[in-house]
Amino acid sequence: MTDRKISVEEMFGENVFTVSKMKERLPKSVFKTVLRIMDQGGELSLADADVVAKAMKDWAVENGATHYTHWFQPLTGITAEKHDSFITSPNDEGHLMMDFSGKQLIKGEPDASSFPSGGLRATFEARGYTAWDITSLAFLKESGTGKTLCIPTAFYSYTGETLDKKTPLLRSMEAVSAQGLRIVRLFGNTEATKVIPFVGAEQEYFLVDKDNYMQRADLKFAGRTLFGAAAPKGQEMDDHYFGVIRERVGAFMKEVNEELWKLGVPAKTQHNEVAPGQHELAPIFENANMAVDHNQLVMETMKRVAIHHDMRCLLHEKPYAHVNGSGKHNNWSLRTDDGVNLMKPGESPERNIQFLLVLACVLKAVDTHADLLRQSIAVVGNDLRLGENEAPPAIVSVFLGKQLEDVVRQLVETGTADRHIEGGVLETGIKTMANITKDATDRNRTSPFAFTGNRFEFRMVGASDSVAGSTTVLNTIVAEAFCDAADILENAENFDIAVHDLIKEYMTKHRRIIFNGNAYAPEWQEEAARRGLPNITNMLDAAPALTSDRSVELFEKFGIFTRSELESREEIVYETYAKSINIEARTMIDMAGKQIIPGCMRYERDLAQTVIAVKEAGADNTTERRRLQQVAGYINDAQRALERLMKDTPRAAKMDEGRKKAYFYKDTILPEMARLRKACDELELLVDKRMWPFPTYEELMFEI
Ligand code: ADP
Ligand code: MG
Repeated sequence: MTDRKISVEEMFGENVFTVSKMKERLPKSVFKTVLRIMDQGGELSLADADVVAKAMKDWAVENGATHYTHWFQPLTGITAEKHDSFITSPNDEGHLMMDFSGKQLIKGEPDASSFPSGGLRATFEARGYTAWDITSLAFLKESGTGKTLCIPTAFYSYTGETLDKKTPLLRSMEAVSAQGLRIVRLFGNTEATKVIPFVGAEQEYFLVDKDNYMQRADLKFAGRTLFGAAAPKGQEMDDHYFGVIRERVGAFMKEVNEELWKLGVPAKTQHNEVAPGQHELAPIFENANMAVDHNQLVMETMKRVAIHHDMRCLLHEKPYAHVNGSGKHNNWSLRTDDGVNLMKPGESPERNIQFLLVLACVLKAVDTHADLLRQSIAVVGNDLRLGENEAPPAIVSVFLGKQLEDVVRQLVETGTADRHIEGGVLETGIKTMANITKDATDRNRTSPFAFTGNRFEFRMVGASDSVAGSTTVLNTIVAEAFCDAADILENAENFDIAVHDLIKEYMTKHRRIIFNGNAYAPEWQEEAARRGLPNITNMLDAAPALTSDRSVELFEKFGIFTRSELESREEIVYETYAKSINIEARTMIDMAGKQIIPGCMRYERDLAQTVIAVKEAGADNTTERRRLQQVAGYINDAQRALERLMKDTPRAAKMDEGRKKAYFYKDTILPEMARLRKACDELELLVDKRMWPFPTYEELMFEI
């Protein structure tokens, strides 16, 4: 923890090789070149790269760094790093130097064979390359290993296929920029040189006491509880949400904030979330690339700092049954580099034609590629969250709010929109308190894709997932819609009429994706089915969206993915799914077989002895017998479910990798796991607490 008394301003970016540090340390001409490439692209010469590398190394070493790493985001969902120290081989006198060359800065060559590649690369073709991403600032990471200079990089296979999350993201940012510029040019903007996607990733998480965590194999291996009856109290009193932050959690948050500020992550908001033990951190939004990198740092920092406070941080989407899971809201918007937010409706949205066109394009994009958006947030844990407590359903729909929906209605029904609903005033009814001006639109926390005034909030993303995937898809599908619109409008004879007609056409055609009601209500499922909207309830069913003709065409058109890259990513979905469920099943087998059932049998034996003792004492033992029967019954259920799982899990594991195997886990193993859990959770409610082998939901969620 930082004990020094320094201000947040001083602390912010302390561990980042910021633009101002570059300015101080680089010769003017090199600095200018770096800035230009950061802004407009291009390649740094090896000579310049040497200069930058030396400055970076000097700064890092002055600040106590001994190692550097190319920091990248393979398809595991987390980041990867392999540290090299700066030392050179000692000279004849035994002295060594600290060195770092431009070549080492620009390119790395980690052995890539153990990262997921979905068949793109066989193990014998182990080479992989990392390439410096000059648009994301290098930083120093402090950890048990000391300080390491981290260089954000993209990761490729020997043959040039992308093996990471950054490359497609950067490509999609370029695509939406190029197409977005065409749109703003149509409206007379000649100044802007880029359209930049911005992302604010709100991060939800749970904290759990270390001692409790350590006793639960499921938390250790699967990141979620695989057993657990509901605690007597859950979240029904709504007393945790925005509640007073407990001391221990507060100390954790303070350290997380300070660590993040030092890394240049603008951590802004913190509060208790709905479920007991659940919290949230929201940073200020940044350009999508930085925001994605920073969200990885947020997750890493939370996990690391929790350990300092004898806790563990759970980022799983559904660590506990019966209460809310954790998501990561992706707040996404587009802005030109001359400062115009394309998602800002302004005072009179009905007259803001550029905004209406952008809105129409977003509706078209989301409706056309709802399956791809759904796929972009598919991680194993999210299957358990979507559609559960407070999570948006698996159906993609857009919430626009009263004001905009009314504008859309006018446009669709009458062809013109000439008025808008005003927000009005909320009277406080208190003399000493001013009345409050109201927004024209309330919020809808049930919508998976909600317009929130100056951005869209994509709420389906899972807490453990990188925001890169969803942002890449958003950028690309909107780039396509912009491109289609620009193709028509650039050639229109009468722009005003053409743009009006196009907005009306898109809004009419894609109005079905708008839903302002309660997306948690069961009636919405029926209504969505009537509208023909896809409801893809699990990750495996979502996977083929990656390789549909429509998706391949989309991604190839904008140079984001090739068909074989998409096929490999689909393969990885199946592999990851099978592996994750395999770990969960094996963990359950262990816990039930070695802990729960033996513990319950001890209780059963006690009960059996009590039944005899009570009878011998001449008393009525009906109650004891009933209880014994109940316990014996559930032990029997548990044992049978366990035996099935013990038989089928190794069978599943032996199957060939791929779709069939994944579905076997989903359709056979998951139901067997559920059966085992059910019997064990019933037992938890019956068995003497002192004989229950590990901490229950009560301790996990309420003892922090
Ligand atoms: P809420 O809980 O109401 O959704 P928060 O303050 O928790 O609001 O989070 C909102 C997130 O949206 C923050 O990360 C914020 O920086 C981000 N955000 C605000 N404006 C924009 C914008 N124009 N583009 C992208 N993200 C934005
Ligand atoms: Mg939010």
